[in-house]
Amino acid sequence: MDFRLTPAQQALKEEFEAFFQEEAQRAPEGWIGGMFGIFESEANWAYHRSVADRLSKKGWLSLPWPKKYGGQEHSYIEQLIFNEVRGYYRVPGVDLWGPQIVAPSILEHGSEELKQEWLPRIANAEINWCQGWSEPNSGSDLASLMTRAVEDGDDFVINGQKIWTTGGHKADHIFFLARTDPSVPKHKGITYFVSPIKEGVTVRPLLFMHGKHEYNEVFFDNFRVPKTNVVGKVNQGWYVTMAGINFERSMIGTVSELQRDLEDLVDLCKRTQRNGRSLYEDPLIRQKMAQLDTELEATRQWAYYVAWVQSKKQSAAPEASAAKYFSSEMTVRFANTALEILGLYGPLKEGSKWASLHGKFEDLCQASLGGTVAGGTTEIQKNIIAWMGLKLPR
Ligand SMILES: Cc1cc2nc3c(=O)[nH]c(=O)nc-3n(C[C@H](O)[C@H](O)[C@H](O)COP(=O)(O)OP(=O)(O)OC[C@H]3O[C@@H](n4cnc5c(N)ncnc54)[C@H](O)[C@@H]3O)c2cc1C
Repeated sequence: MDFRLTPAQQALKEEFEAFFQEEAQRAPEGWIGGMFGIFESEANWAYHRSVADRLSKKGWLSLPWPKKYGGQEHSYIEQLIFNEVRGYYRVPGVDLWGPQIVAPSILEHGSEELKQEWLPRIANAEINWCQGWSEPNSGSDLASLMTRAVEDGDDFVINGQKIWTTGGHKADHIFFLARTDPSVPKHKGITYFVSPIKEGVTVRPLLFMHGKHEYNEVFFDNFRVPKTNVVGKVNQGWYVTMAGINFERSMIGTVSELQRDLEDLVDLCKRTQRNGRSLYEDPLIRQKMAQLDTELEATRQWAYYVAWVQSKKQSAAPEASAAKYFSSEMTVRFANTALEILGLYGPLKEGSKWASLHGKFEDLCQASLGGTVAGGTTEIQKNIIAWMGLKLPR
């Protein structure tokens, strides 16, 4: 594998850098980035939406799609470069689900009618999605889900409950899975739907342990969805979810944002004196930061490797699982180490006049634990690496 960028990729990277550098200047007071920071205040949400609008005008929300559907047919590597630069500058603007999961699913399995209806709206950042997959009793074993969809004329009528629905309170659309045939083996009776959130849907907040509102419970009560909103075939939804994970999955955005965090931490240590010398000179702190830097660089190189495997049109499932597992666990280690370095100032929350870096690491310390669960837990990622990567028995 050649890690060097081609001249065209280098030029694209510079274009992304110029754009995101400028967008970063528009961040509202106290913005600290992070995947879910957009949900934390009206100002943060407005910032996210305004960047989304400008990204859509550049056609950067649909970089890898076929030109026929408004894309630019860029490769996984170019999508990775975009995600890397955006992460480094901590700029939002990309819906968590639309371009990354819903669009690839529709592109691979959707009818022409669905493609014409939904893809332009995703590329134009018109809609905000949430993901209704997990249920109170179905997370890792997602195929056991109980939400029911029953045919009635031109519609399906949906009843059931979803949980941990990230951003459900800000979303106007939902993509979800429901059981359409309970009489067949569990993977074979599930259907994949897309729909506006409307009558029959109730969204209730589920506060995270740090008290922030990012997640929700979603209840379906005789919620009607037209049959034309099924992605793929009825009862084949499980296989559509497999296509939905066919997007750039290297976790590079997490890595580059942490890289930026590390630079901020080093800078803070240079400026901070303890016992008559700067933290920067403390040998224990230097060791900790060198460890973080090494892990970050390893994760970054692995991310490039994942995108390279994907760009060869090979399945990168175990490689992507390794990236998800390692980067999410590393984020927890990173946040805890940063808190240790900051000493008694570390756990102070944003808003305290003594908090370092706007309470960034206090926030990360709590939020990062969720990252080891969301999108498949660490244990599930290790199972995939064992089964698919190492060919060990199930
Ligand atoms: C921050 C956050 C955001 C989320 N956002 C969304 C969202 O937007 N939409 C959505 O649909 N879902 C979302 N989820 C839900 C997430 O996908 C599930 O929490 C996750 O799949 C785990 O399911 P569970 O919580 O039911 O845990 P369980 O599946 O009950 O797992 C409990 C424990 O058992 C372990 N375990 C389970 N099965 C196995 C196995 N086969 N082998 C080894 N260990 C196993 C797990 O690793 C875990 O430690 C989110 C979760 C979090 C924490």
